[in-house]
Amino acid sequence: MRNKKGFTLVELMVVVAVVGVLATVAVPIYSSVTKRAKEKICDTNRLLVESAVIAYLEVGNNGKPHTFTSAARSFGMENPPKEKEGASAGPFTEDVWTEDFKTNFKNEKLPRCPFDEENGKYAVTLHYRANTTPAVEVTCETEHENK
Ligand SMILES: [Zn+2]
Repeated sequence: MRNKKGFTLVELMVVVAVVGVLATVAVPIYSSVTKRAKEKICDTNRLLVESAVIAYLEVGNNGKPHTFTSAARSFGMENPPKEKEGASAGPFTEDVWTEDFKTNFKNEKLPRCPFDEENGKYAVTLHYRANTTPAVEVTCETEHENK
């Protein structure tokens, strides 16, 4: 009587072929999902930095809101551009962020772009706005699409 236990060579080859086909479909899907997730995390990090800057600008000038000029100076810029329509200061990279500003991050770790978890820093640019705190633009310093 023929032994019915185990797989025949043909059955094993079919299983290997099916796994191979699944892998060729699943791997690109997985990497595209991973990439999109990282882009979302990067977006979220930029919003986190943006809200920290806004919070800082509102009270960071000895309890008063920062003007465009005082905000630019607080990021280490000695001669900020004149306060007028279209003026902007920055980008200020994380290396020049003051401790005073960094305290706006509740956890002491500053966000990192998921595409470069070691060095993926963010930069802040301030845009002059009449009679209010400057508008804030946060950019990711790591090269990747969909920023
Ligand atoms: Zn990024």
